[in-house]
Amino acid sequence: MKMTNTKKELLAIADSCVKCGICAPHCPTYTHTQNENESPRGRIALIQAWAGGQLNMTDNLLEHIDSCLLCRACEKACPAVVPYAKLIDDFRAEMHGEQSTPLSVRLVKTFAENKRVQRWAKSGLKFYQQNNLQKTVRFLRLPNLLGLGELERLVPNYQDTQPLQNYYPATNEIKGDVGLFVGCMGELFDFETVNAAITVLTHVGFNVYLPETQTCCGAIALHEGDSETAQTLAKQNQTAFANENLQAIITIASGCGGTLKDYAPKVVDISHFLSQFELDLKPLTTNIRVHSPCTLKNVLKTDKSVLKLLKQIPDANISSLPETTQCCGAAGSYSLRHDKMAQTLLNELLETSLEKPADYLVSSNIGCALHIAAGLRERGENITVVHPIVLLAKQLAN
Ligand code: SF4
Ligand code: SF4
Repeated sequence: MKMTNTKKELLAIADSCVKCGICAPHCPTYTHTQNENESPRGRIALIQAWAGGQLNMTDNLLEHIDSCLLCRACEKACPAVVPYAKLIDDFRAEMHGEQSTPLSVRLVKTFAENKRVQRWAKSGLKFYQQNNLQKTVRFLRLPNLLGLGELERLVPNYQDTQPLQNYYPATNEIKGDVGLFVGCMGELFDFETVNAAITVLTHVGFNVYLPETQTCCGAIALHEGDSETAQTLAKQNQTAFANENLQAIITIASGCGGTLKDYAPKVVDISHFLSQFELDLKPLTTNIRVHSPCTLKNVLKTDKSVLKLLKQIPDANISSLPETTQCCGAAGSYSLRHDKMAQTLLNELLETSLEKPADYLVSSNIGCALHIAAGLRERGENITVVHPIVLLAKQLAN
């Protein structure tokens, strides 16, 4: 039987795994299921056997691969430097269209890729929440009946937003120009962070550019195996941020940063970028716990910069969640497809977070922040989940 190029490429990556199993204890799905098929090594072996013609494609096989969070903890731990994420992305692209996509995932993907839909969603969300419709809909359990329960629980309270400008000049001595990547969620679900990022960057001395043609980073399309759409979005962002004068392309969601980094140079997470500057900040007597999203820890690898930056706030009591803390379960569209595993991981993370007193839980990724905030809300915990940059912006001393 003739082997396709894709299968040859998948085999070449899978063959670089020496099956040592060092990655296994780092894998959240393996930790919880103790099933080798739900471990990095097991998933690699399954793809290897399928690409090599020893295994037929079955729903079961697809499900084992699909249950991977793509948190990339295994990749970070792997001594053989197996490019695990590329293997899964390529496999998903090859399987695109073989699996049904839940309505909630289709809605999120459409929202992410279409600015007109984002504008409709903004008016829709306002109407939904400000006319008591949400309470009624939740009471009737309509989202659950439509298979949208998981998506609906993530939706934060509507915030009035101002239209974003394409350019914000530095408000202090000029240090240079930067681009700001807002992503598909920023304007509607995380305007506070977008605003804070502009405030702090201009305060530090940067002219901030927000190219109007920037679009979704493509992470959701990639997760869904839609490599064609992901490539189109990548090209659009490359063109949008082509200005050579930009010193950096700043991201405020590490999930976007992890994807952008693969196709755009100069991508840097905002906390890492700002941690090189000394800021004049007002004291804040409060307890802050720091959550490090997988994309910041395992892909951008700049999670320590958040701590370094926040420690500049006088009087704040800052503590990171333990190094061993695993993925929160949000993982792009993962929680919409695998709600049970996502909930298990979330519960575990919340237990760890609540071990020490916290007024704020900071997270550098909007997807994780919404997932964690929903969990805290459901438990009746009065902890504010914010992006670190929001706290920083509030403490700026003139
Ligand atoms: S992915 Fe890396 S760590 Fe895991 S079994 Fe293969 S070689 Fe070992
Ligand atoms: S990416 Fe995460 S969930 Fe997937 S195999 Fe690796 S450690 Fe496990």
